[in-house]
Amino acid sequence: MPSLLIVEDDELLRDALVAQLTLAGHTVTPATDGAQAQALLESHRFDGVILDLGLPKISGMEVLRWLRLRLPALPVLILTARDGVDDRVQGLNAGADDYLTKPFNMAELQARLAAMLRRARLPAFGGSLEMIVDSTRRLRLDATLPLAWLGEEPLELTHREWALLSLLVTNADQVVSREDVLEVWQTEPSDAITAGSNALEVYIHRLRRKLADSGLNIRNVRGLGYMLESAPPSARL
Ligand code: CA
Repeated sequence: MPSLLIVEDDELLRDALVAQLTLAGHTVTPATDGAQAQALLESHRFDGVILDLGLPKISGMEVLRWLRLRLPALPVLILTARDGVDDRVQGLNAGADDYLTKPFNMAELQARLAAMLRRARLPAFGGSLEMIVDSTRRLRLDATLPLAWLGEEPLELTHREWALLSLLVTNADQVVSREDVLEVWQTEPSDAITAGSNALEVYIHRLRRKLADSGLNIRNVRGLGYMLESAPPSARL
């Protein structure tokens, strides 16, 4: 049964969505504002999110950007009263998988939701993050749980190492800044890390060690951040 998070501050609409989607066979968790949505996303695993943009405390667009750094493969459908082309483009650029404007037809919402969840189950659309290592192996990370494999071998990673590696794989061959990493790590407030500490260097060092025989390289781009370099084209499948 797909598990859905519904983030909507309008009580009537939220109740209607919960009732209809529960009836349609989903397990539904409601959130009334952006902050509650983030707390739930940190503590629960969902198969999809229906997200309003105009939300108290933290806006839907902010929730979406926050979520995309952490859960790149989680399908998100924006449901909003804002129907300008700019809003739609902004939402899709921020990583929404689909966009529906209010007022909407419940049958259309259900059809789009079903299509979105179906796409998400296809390997090309997530569930896991992958990177080609050489002709026989891939580095694979579960997109939502702290699990990773190099070929068939599971990698022993802490939650923080997995979060860092997910970010590097999602942005392979691009520079990931120190600020990007710290923002992702800040989801663990009990374990606060300041930009001045050398914790990031320590974690990069540990990841390099764990990836040592893989051929994958985490390059230090001076003054900018780190870049995970994929295998050379000759090694690709
Ligand atoms: Ca709203």
